[in-house]
Amino acid sequence: MYPRIIIDRQGVLDNAIALQDLAAARGVGITPVVKALAGHELIRDIVALGFERIGDASLPHIRAYADLNVEKWLLRSPMQAEIPELVSLTAGAFITEAAAIRQLEAEAGRQGKSYKIVLMAEMGDLREGCEEEELFSLASLAQILPHIELVGLGTNLSCFGNILPDEDNMIRLVELASRLEQHIDKPLPLLSGGNSSSYLMLRDGDLPPAINDLRLGESILLGRLPCYDRPIEGLNQHTFMVETEIVELKFKPSLPWGISGSRDSFGGHTAFSDKGRRWRALAALGKQEIYINGLAAVDPGVELLGGCSDYIVCDISDSANTYKVGDILTFACDYAALATGMSSNYFEKIYK
Ligand SMILES: *Cc1c(COP(=O)(O)O)cnc(C)c1O
Repeated sequence: MYPRIIIDRQGVLDNAIALQDLAAARGVGITPVVKALAGHELIRDIVALGFERIGDASLPHIRAYADLNVEKWLLRSPMQAEIPELVSLTAGAFITEAAAIRQLEAEAGRQGKSYKIVLMAEMGDLREGCEEEELFSLASLAQILPHIELVGLGTNLSCFGNILPDEDNMIRLVELASRLEQHIDKPLPLLSGGNSSSYLMLRDGDLPPAINDLRLGESILLGRLPCYDRPIEGLNQHTFMVETEIVELKFKPSLPWGISGSRDSFGGHTAFSDKGRRWRALAALGKQEIYINGLAAVDPGVELLGGCSDYIVCDISDSANTYKVGDILTFACDYAALATGMSSNYFEKIYK
């Protein structure tokens, strides 16, 4: 059945092993971030490689592998209604709000558990995170609550503000952690320094030694370095391929005609250039199912022109292949296409 996502299971596992080995050589642990897999069973194989914990961003995903014997961590600040299930399914969460800590304490008490938290520090990317004073007060709060165990400090970069990890913000993080430890008079065993964008600092041995954890998603799944938008040498990139079927193939003008409105059906705007009549393939896959701008055709003669909710539109005139209706077009996924595609029930997902 099409469309489908072909998963190179071994390619992903080899990426995970290579990153695990590199990090181990630098004294850093890895928390695989599996949110883009939307609960897919590949997570089981990743866990089997031997990781202490994995990170995810949604409870419905975590439900799908609740039975796995690994510490599950919620990376996204929780919603109130999630707290009971969060405490029962996960070992810990990354936290930035006092209200969440209090709710976790109450629920962990009800369930007779101890619940771990890592506080997130704002280091300039302006996504989740607290500045120093609030970190001190959250840490003090955690200290007096009997069912909350504060185990570490983390930060997230390169996600919203596009801020890269560097020596300056990493040293600031380490210093912050040590002031926090003094403040609560207790060591914080986990110092989680960032995500896949920290790969270069990891590889080059530039992370301060106190940083002992990285949370890696894109580098494991796609072998790519986010923010720099480039492949990581030695890792596998074409690990998730989208295949879809050509359902219309026509020789049409390349410029639309008639009176032009300002926005297409998804609020976007496609630029057109006049190349005369071209062979245009419509494939059965659209913006409702996947982030189509994140797809790259494998056939260099296929140009993805754009799409709408139900179709992608490709110019195939320059291809060396002679396509016909019913043939399959293949695309590599970037992270946005991977995350949206894996979350969509529209795709069949099979191993290579
Ligand atoms: C998604 C996420 C990650 C993983 O980021 P990658 O760039 O895919 O490695 C790490 N930490 C947090 C908090 C996240 O939300």
